[in-house]
Amino acid sequence: MSKKLISIVVPIFNEEENIFALYQALQSVFKEIALSYNYELILVDDGSKDKSWQLMKELAAFNSCIKILSFSRNFGHQMALTAGYDAARGDAIITIDADLQDPPSVILAMIKEWQKGFYIVYARRITRKDSLLKKFVANVYYRILHLIADVAIPRNVGDFRLIDRAVLNGVQSIRETTCYWRGMIAWTGFAHTFVDFKREQRAGGIPGYTWKKSFKLGIDGITGFSSFPLEIAAYVGFFVIITGSLMLAYITYDAVINAIYYPLFKWLTTIVYIFMGVQFLLMWLIGEYIGRIYMQQKQRPLYLIKEEKGLEKKIHEDNAYSPKNSARDICCSSADRPNTSSSTFE
Ligand code: UDP
Ligand code: MG
Repeated sequence: MSKKLISIVVPIFNEEENIFALYQALQSVFKEIALSYNYELILVDDGSKDKSWQLMKELAAFNSCIKILSFSRNFGHQMALTAGYDAARGDAIITIDADLQDPPSVILAMIKEWQKGFYIVYARRITRKDSLLKKFVANVYYRILHLIADVAIPRNVGDFRLIDRAVLNGVQSIRETTCYWRGMIAWTGFAHTFVDFKREQRAGGIPGYTWKKSFKLGIDGITGFSSFPLEIAAYVGFFVIITGSLMLAYITYDAVINAIYYPLFKWLTTIVYIFMGVQFLLMWLIGEYIGRIYMQQKQRPLYLIKEEKGLEKKIHEDNAYSPKNSARDICCSSADRPNTSSSTFE
């Protein structure tokens, strides 16, 4: 029986200082992997301005297991992951940062968990050596996201993870421009587990993730996986209508029972206040419709199948939104994993 294939995907943006160190660190991991599996290393250059691409070409010339591709410009980390996932042919696909903040040795522990039958193995940070401000902002953000997201996105995990081919097949048909892989992987709902690790400082160079990019990623996470922002108008609307109605009831009681005189502007202010609440409710209603259009246009599969037996036809070909999706294998059981024997790299 041919060996299964492990793909390792590394997004690279201005990492000339780290590429060789990363490759060296991966070497010992490859030696271990090669005992039981074939492997491929996919390096995605996300429009680097330094010598990264040059170094990647040198590595690829030296080792045929290394596949490289380069973007025309910087499309962002998440798109680099998308390209890496598209290029990967492995039965398991591992994504890891290039700056050695994600220790390559953890990969072996991830593969062990995958062998046990887990479809998703997240590398979870138990400590992280980043600036205090970054740690604080990340902590607050992930707490909020955890609270409001419609799917349970695990905390203290980044994009260092292993996914089974079945998981990738489930999400690969989804081509969202505001891509948030952490959310998409969690959305699939396949059995997952964690491998803990200590996150060090980046080995060299400066972070490619500026505050602006991190902010955009954060917004993509919230808007892609939570309907809470749309519901805010409803909460404000109900609050305003309830408090306005109580005010109106009070002044009406005072005027009728206690014969207190309220000038016209006080009546008008109260009524206008209540109508502001009605406006908020109408905004929420419009938001709900727009939200539904937004979710529909994402064209996520309606459901994913883990296993199927005895079915006369492949029902997953009917449950996709578009013909493009139906052409793809949306769901794939472990028994259906693609035969990767043609992609052997010893
Ligand atoms: N990266 C990328 N495109 C970008 C920014 C970053 O491909 O626009 C890569 C980068 O080379 C690294 C990974 O994404 O391999 C994580 O980036 P970084 O270390 O800057 O993020 P941080 O660890 O600070 O969250
Ligand atoms: Mg980093």
